[in-house]
Amino acid sequence: MEKKERGYSAHVIVFPYPSQGHINPMLQFAKRLASKGLKITVATTHYTVKSIHALGVSVEPISDGYDQSGFWQAPSADAYIAEFKAIGSRTLTELIQKLDRLGSPVDCVVYDSLLGWVQNVTRQLGVRGAIFFTNSSFVCSIFCRLHHGLLSLPLSSDAMPLTLPGMVPLGYSELPTFLTGVVYPAYWTMVMNQFAGLDKVDWVFGNTFERLDGQAAKAISDLWPVKMIGPMVPSSYLDGRIKGDTSYGASLWKPDSDKCIQWLDTKPNGSAVYVSFGSMAEVSPKQMDEIAWGLKGCNIPFIWVVKESEQCKLPDWFEPSIEDQGLLISWCDQLQVMAHEAVGCFVTHCGWNSTLEGLCLGLPIIGVPQWADQPTNAKLVEDVCGVGLRAKMDGEGIVRREEIEFCIREVIHGERGKEIKKNSRKWRELAKEAVDEGGSSDKNIDEFVSMLCGGNRSTLINGSI
Ligand code: UDP
Repeated sequence: MEKKERGYSAHVIVFPYPSQGHINPMLQFAKRLASKGLKITVATTHYTVKSIHALGVSVEPISDGYDQSGFWQAPSADAYIAEFKAIGSRTLTELIQKLDRLGSPVDCVVYDSLLGWVQNVTRQLGVRGAIFFTNSSFVCSIFCRLHHGLLSLPLSSDAMPLTLPGMVPLGYSELPTFLTGVVYPAYWTMVMNQFAGLDKVDWVFGNTFERLDGQAAKAISDLWPVKMIGPMVPSSYLDGRIKGDTSYGASLWKPDSDKCIQWLDTKPNGSAVYVSFGSMAEVSPKQMDEIAWGLKGCNIPFIWVVKESEQCKLPDWFEPSIEDQGLLISWCDQLQVMAHEAVGCFVTHCGWNSTLEGLCLGLPIIGVPQWADQPTNAKLVEDVCGVGLRAKMDGEGIVRREEIEFCIREVIHGERGKEIKKNSRKWRELAKEAVDEGGSSDKNIDEFVSMLCGGNRSTLINGSI
């Protein structure tokens, strides 16, 4: 059947790694592509399929081998990754074949960079492949150099700061923790594998934008030929061109957003702090205790998201003592809460999505990074964009209560807060500009769509004509 007769120009499968921080930006990309006339099927695991309800895209399950509770069901990270590759390859193949039989052949699979094995599936089936990175260009270019042996581990703290083209110099504590702290072999292999075989994929996408860290990407474009398409945040918070696109459309936990909104409605503009450490971080009990004291001590209204699995680490005195000052919840629609005008500051672990969300909303950020790419993201927040502060750790790696109080007061009421707020407004505009019509990311997306719809395969390698 001709594409025109089908009523759409090309059919794309979007396949995220099944965690909240990966589903959100890729689902957003899926919606963006659908808004430009492509037919989109999101492939996700049985465990996550019921959590996804997004505008204009279909959702189909594949299996990671642990259909009841996904990663949490696996005996180890190694087992999960191996099983996902074996069973995921088979079930993704079956899905592509099924869609073909149903008269809806797949033209391209956009897959998470953590799922590099998808390349074998697409090549075997003769379908185009696009790889999607959910980290910043700073972080990807460090990992990419390590993969290609242009940097090697261990990095000694004497050789610091690390000075790489297109980036601000990075101190030891500003590097991804995989380079400086505990190395989890299963994750490390997965992180390094992201950069294998990029010369054989048709497109490389990154959830970031030209003005933010484009220079870092440009400096390594021969090895990491990324097209920056971000920030992938629901359209209503940026350009507003996708009607009704007010949330990602995926939530692995039940949100308690109404309670937050009602509570925030009683607070003055810009007076409250929103605190969240994302979906993965396991904060140490000592750090939880210091955050609890810091929030209580600064006497500023706050909402603190502590996932159910983490709540046992809270000190006993905390919840009964916060009364009207604070609200403790286990999950919410983060963007909806952060966008409330009563929120004046975001205390975050600096996961890349949270960092971008803070930028897009023009909300000052206090970074309390925990692991992985977060320290480098916090550096970007403080030193590249000037939209926040990185809270300082003591010798034991703990951010103490006095530091938390200081940062919150400084951002909400202090002199530095004024400059930070001004920069936050600027970055909000730059983020919006990137995805709005004719912006740098929008052009990259349009180029992909038009090559997918009109180009032939020989013009498609690495997305360049
Ligand atoms: N998030 C949310 N509700 C919460 C906490 C987080 O919706 O209560 C979302 C947040 O908006 C972000 C994602 O979860 O899009 C977390 O991604 P991030 O990269 O910030 O951190 P990760 O969870 O991967 O460490």
